Amino acid sequence: MKILLVDDSKTMRNIWKKVVLGIEGTEAVEAGDGVEGLEAIKEHGPFDLMLVDWNMPNMTGLEMITKVRETDKDTPIIMVTTEAEKPRIIEAIKAGVNNYVIKPFTPDALMEKIDETMKKVNAG
Ligand SMILES: [Mg+2]
Repeated sequence: MKILLVDDSKTMRNIWKKVVLGIEGTEAVEAGDGVEGLEAIKEHGPFDLMLVDWNMPNMTGLEMITKVRETDKDTPIIMVTTEAEKPRIIEAIKAGVNNYVIKPFTPDALMEKIDETMKKVNAG
């Protein structure tokens, strides 16, 4: 499984990376904002899953996802967000995210979200 990790915090990306690389056969590509995320898709895509932070400089996760969904309706996207954006999560769902996880989260919680999202997508 090839996963794109988009977050402006290197520390966060390292945490996610540790979790996803625990899945056998997984490969991870990192990007530091929405602009880099879109570039990474062009350069290294297609991906099997994208984890996208909401709050980032240059281009937010919401803007990036909106862009991605103009041409790609299928790749599963998990939005990573904070309590502050929680009331706006409906916007992210409308923009096309498949699932979301609220920071801070445990590695187990992230793993569960990934499992749940992939199962949902594969089911139909
Ligand atoms: Mg951020």
